[in-house]
Amino acid sequence: MKNHRPDNLINFDKAHIWHPYTSLNHPSPVFAVESASGVRIKLSDGRELIDGMSSWWAAIHGYNHPQLNNAIEQQLKSMAHVMFGGLTHLPAIELAKKLIDITHPDLQHVFFADSGSVAVEVAIKMAIQYWASKKQPNKQRLLTIRNSYHGDTFGAMAVCDPDNGMHHLFSDVLAKHLFAKSPDCFGQQQADADALEDFEKLLSQNQNSIAAVILEPIVQGAGGMRFYSADYLKQVSLLCKQYDSLLILDEIATGFGRTGSLFAYEQAGIAPDILCVGKALTGGYLSLAATLCSSKVANGIGQGEHPVLMHGPTFMANPLACAVANASLELLAESTWQANVKKIEQQLKDELNDCLQCPSVKGVRVMGAIGVVELHNPIDIHWIQPRFVELGVWVRPFSNLVYVMPPYIIEADDLSKVTSAIHQVVSEIR
Ligand code: PMP
Repeated sequence: MKNHRPDNLINFDKAHIWHPYTSLNHPSPVFAVESASGVRIKLSDGRELIDGMSSWWAAIHGYNHPQLNNAIEQQLKSMAHVMFGGLTHLPAIELAKKLIDITHPDLQHVFFADSGSVAVEVAIKMAIQYWASKKQPNKQRLLTIRNSYHGDTFGAMAVCDPDNGMHHLFSDVLAKHLFAKSPDCFGQQQADADALEDFEKLLSQNQNSIAAVILEPIVQGAGGMRFYSADYLKQVSLLCKQYDSLLILDEIATGFGRTGSLFAYEQAGIAPDILCVGKALTGGYLSLAATLCSSKVANGIGQGEHPVLMHGPTFMANPLACAVANASLELLAESTWQANVKKIEQQLKDELNDCLQCPSVKGVRVMGAIGVVELHNPIDIHWIQPRFVELGVWVRPFSNLVYVMPPYIIEADDLSKVTSAIHQVVSEIR
């Protein structure tokens, strides 16, 4: 473009480019970013924002990290990409080894996908192909819980909450799955007995048609930012065994330390049959996800009449993405992420609880490096987004939820600026 003045760029953007969940006819505010470093996002107009979002759970080490930059630069010297059909490479092999090492010992096989949604699609295919191989082709449905979110592609949308979000628009063309009550047992030792009973009822009544249960362990993200007890997850895992269902865990948001354990399922002491990871896998640098599965699942598929797992993206296991993922996992292992997440958790609890005094606020909840302020009413994004920017922070609410999941490297002073801005903004809502 000839004229790079910020106003011209933004006007072009508004007229021509869709952003996530936006309308071109009623564009919501967008801010042009010039650069980002550490926990700071620098806008083209010179303003600096402290990042409360880690670019949607992903940038756990902050932006423009020298070790991550270096990993990509080094990889670029040998190759940016080669097809994965019939070829392989060290970055992918190293990454698969690392993922197998840090996840449950049952998980021994890795499929590299190019986004979280695709990782979920692959997980669903694995489950259905597994049962087809076992000569139980009727086991094709999934069971999940309300308020779930697993992505925006059609297979993933079909296991998102059918009522919230806009997925109901597509309901006639979505696969029909089963939805149990969402558990309400955050902060409790025991599972929500009522929700568990509903879950077991659906599982037992539909045992012959259910291929797998799919859940976001402990934290439900974009479907409502709800938390539930590890005991519920543990009971679900036992019920899956009892009723012969595979268990798919979607750790795309929760994986790599966000909830305080490396993977959220560790808190329940269980093992999934299939595990999806993404987002923070590359430290937020490039789009990459993975679906891991147990030997039971992989061999089950391989021994069937159709032994080929039917998926193969063009950019599967992109070497640049794998190289930066390797560097990100090394950085995580060397870092004091557990202590950082604990410190963030305590500070979010101490500082966000003040919001409870504001009439607009319905509740506050914190788990690991995730803080949520739930309001009584949906928020006007056209007002709230520029207001946060005026206050020098990047917080991106949706529906009635103001929430943060900052990079693990955030300092206490910066986090205080984020929580004070949230307090200020929610106190202005009447
Ligand atoms: N599952 C969960 C739990 C997620 O939070 C998301 C992304 N918000 C996805 C799947 C989809 O990932 P992606 O946006 O990379 O397709």
